[in-house]
Amino acid sequence: MRIYDHLRFSFMCSPQRVRGTGHRVAIVGAGPAGLFAAGYLACMGHEVHVYDKLPEPGGLMLFVIPEFKVSIPRVKGGTSELADVFNVKFYTRTKVFGGARSKEEGDAYVTKEVELKDLIKDYDAVLIATGTWSVGKLNVPGEDLRGVYSALEYLFRAKAARLGHIPRDEVPQLRGRRVAIVGGDIMAVDAALEAFYDGAGTIYVFYEGTIKDVPAGEYCIRSLTDRGVKFVELTKPKSIVGDRGEVAGIELAKVDPRTREPIPGSEFLVDVNIVINATEVKPTPPVANGYLGIKVSGDGRIVVNERHVAAEKVFAAGDVVLGPTRVGDAALDGLYAAESIHEYLLYG
Ligand SMILES: Cc1cc2nc3c(=O)[nH]c(=O)nc-3n(C[C@H](O)[C@H](O)[C@H](O)COP(=O)(O)OP(=O)(O)OC[C@H]3O[C@@H](n4cnc5c(N)ncnc54)[C@H](O)[C@@H]3O)c2cc1C
Repeated sequence: MRIYDHLRFSFMCSPQRVRGTGHRVAIVGAGPAGLFAAGYLACMGHEVHVYDKLPEPGGLMLFVIPEFKVSIPRVKGGTSELADVFNVKFYTRTKVFGGARSKEEGDAYVTKEVELKDLIKDYDAVLIATGTWSVGKLNVPGEDLRGVYSALEYLFRAKAARLGHIPRDEVPQLRGRRVAIVGGDIMAVDAALEAFYDGAGTIYVFYEGTIKDVPAGEYCIRSLTDRGVKFVELTKPKSIVGDRGEVAGIELAKVDPRTREPIPGSEFLVDVNIVINATEVKPTPPVANGYLGIKVSGDGRIVVNERHVAAEKVFAAGDVVLGPTRVGDAALDGLYAAESIHEYLLYG
């Protein structure tokens, strides 16, 4: 078996065998779903153009997931192979929209906007794979204090600095700080690990369930506690305490293990100066519900049929369809959508 030093988005074929079909496909979103779809479609001989709002392709894999999990050269090597060997064209810093415009994490890099209806006109098929780039709120007093970040924002800034897109001093400085992370999913684990390697003093992870039902999995939490992170189960934040506009502590309540409701009188205060909200990211479809017949569900996901069709000529895949998942699930969904697009292009 050959071990590749980069992600092979085009693992389906060797470039020598590819014969052009003359069909052109636009992909919106260069995360794992979009990139594996691009690799598949390029292998089938279609001309593929990928649009992304960020300065480089890679999505959350490149811009958010810490480097000790997915290395930067592996992602960049994979996207370079798509561009150099399979002639996939990348239009970066380009945001695609349809109907109403929305503001999300990462928009600061956008220099160009393209309307989805123009892509539909110019290409034989369009795949939307725009992921989850907006965050939920904790909905507690004190959330606007300096020192409160979302996990997405913190990890995104850390990675953007490592990639050379922002100066290091624009990354939240956690060295020696006392950090509270709220959540129990993979985002909380990534934020805690990044904070640990950033030299944070004390790191707490507060989760409303128990270690047995934590979405990240017990094993991931053990990997944190082995590093000295304090995992505090069955707790929910009540407020973030401020001092002169900055975080000075977090007030939490114990929750009932059955109802997950706060237990009156169980409140306690923890002395921290950074709070990271790792509770929720939300799908970010580029279109409003109903735009050109594309349906968006109440929780922001694009609705597709079993062939990944969202509307005439429009397909969708990855976390913008599934809701927040993992790299593997999103990549697989992108591959299934690409297979449907290929069939549609050949047989209608
Ligand atoms: C903080 C965090 C940590 C995570 N850690 C892990 C982990 O450790 N392991 C793991 O397996 N999974 C992890 N995940 C989940 C994983 O990253 C996602 O499941 C996966 O990246 C989803 O792939 P995707 O291609 O659907 O979307 P994304 O990777 O989000 O890619 C979507 C792309 O679309 C672009 N885009 C969005 N809107 C537009 C628009 N309107 N126009 C143009 N471009 C647009 C974005 O810039 C982005 O490049 C994490 C997720 C988060 C939020």
